[in-house]
Order: sequence, then structure tokens, then C-alpha cells
Amino acid sequence: MNRPIKNEILDDLDSQLVGAESLSARAMAREIQRIGFKCEGCGDCCRGEENCVALFPFEIRAIVAETGEGWLEAAGPPEEGEWDCEGSFHTLEWRLAKAGRDCKYYSEGRCRIYGARPLLCQTYPFYLEKGRLKWSECRGLGGEIGHSEATKLAELLKRRQIVEIREAMELVRRYEDFERGEPSPRGRCIVHDSDGYHDIDWSEIQGAFGRRIKLFRGW
Ligand code: SF4
Repeated sequence: MNRPIKNEILDDLDSQLVGAESLSARAMAREIQRIGFKCEGCGDCCRGEENCVALFPFEIRAIVAETGEGWLEAAGPPEEGEWDCEGSFHTLEWRLAKAGRDCKYYSEGRCRIYGARPLLCQTYPFYLEKGRLKWSECRGLGGEIGHSEATKLAELLKRRQIVEIREAMELVRRYEDFERGEPSPRGRCIVHDSDGYHDIDWSEIQGAFGRRIKLFRGW
């Protein structure tokens, strides 16, 4: 990514940030109340193939502080990415660790890291897309939600949108492009994020992705 492209993306993100900062949490809270939501505690959002929680470095640090685990026990790289000419895999941002099909922190009907759960979990099933309120499938939709709870949710959604844009800006500022190439057993896994980049040995990658990549490549 060369400097003019970086500047173009940063300008676009900057105007998105201005838009996100001017969002009315009050209006959003009214909309949330109109749609309705009451968590039924079914855990559907924490289980199954569909469960995929994107998270940022500061959220991983919060989980690590809460659990005493290592970074790569709490999170792993997404599977989408590209290979460089030294055979390393490059990807962007992080995914919350899973145990089989479910979030690894879901246990006996509850979240074991409730106080440190990522913003995405705190605001589920709602999210903002270009400032517009959207929602994912959820049994709790249509339930009764009080004014103060809807306001809290709206404020969290606004904060999440601002955080996502700021994280993206930091990632773009620190991102260093690379020459594309083919996978190699000598290659590593490079995760680009707002910290810059994390350079990881494949043997450290927990869970299915690390195993699958080694199996698939015959390493
Ligand atoms: S962190 Fe907690 S709320 Fe989020 S998916 Fe995992 S168990 Fe569910």
C-alpha cells in the first residue's frame, strides 16, 4: 500500500469518524426500543460454526488480564490472508479463540469473561453499518427493553463504531506492504493490527487453523 493510497483510505476513515462521532445515541436508543430486544440467555450467539468474534488488541489485553492466559490462547488469526515471497502468511486483526465449534469462554450457559467480553458481544445482536442500525438473527429480538438499557446499548454501539474506525486508522498508518509469493514451511504467520504487526511461529497458533494449515500444506 503506497503513501497516496494510504492517505486516501485515511481521509475516508477520517470522514467516517466524523460521522460516527456525530451519531445520536438518543435516536438510536429509540430505534432499539421500537425493534425490541431482551436477551433470553440461550447462548446461540456463543456457540456453533457461526460464532466468530472479531476483536482488537486492547480487547485481547483485557481478556489476558482477566484470565491470566497468553495472547495466543485468547485469540488467533483469521483464515483469510495472503502469502509473501518468503512464504509467510499475512492477515489482518484477530478472532476470539474457539473450543471446537463454540467460543472457548462459553461454559455451562454463561460467559466466563463477562466483564472483559469484546464490544461485539456486548452489543449483539445489533451493529452499525455506515451509521445505520442493523441486527443479526437472535431469539431475543422483539422483546421488551427499557429506556435506560436501550440507551446504554446505543451508547455502546456508537463507541464500538468509533473504536472500529480508530483501530482501522491505526492499522493503515502502521501497515507495511509486502511482495506476494507462495507458502513455505519456513514461513511464519504475520498478523497486522493497530499495534503494527505480530510475527508468530505456526507452532504457536492454537486450534484448528494452525493444525489445518500444516496438514493441508503437508508440513
Ligand atoms: S466472549 Fe462471552 S459473550 Fe462473547 S461469544 Fe464468548 S462466551 Fe459469548
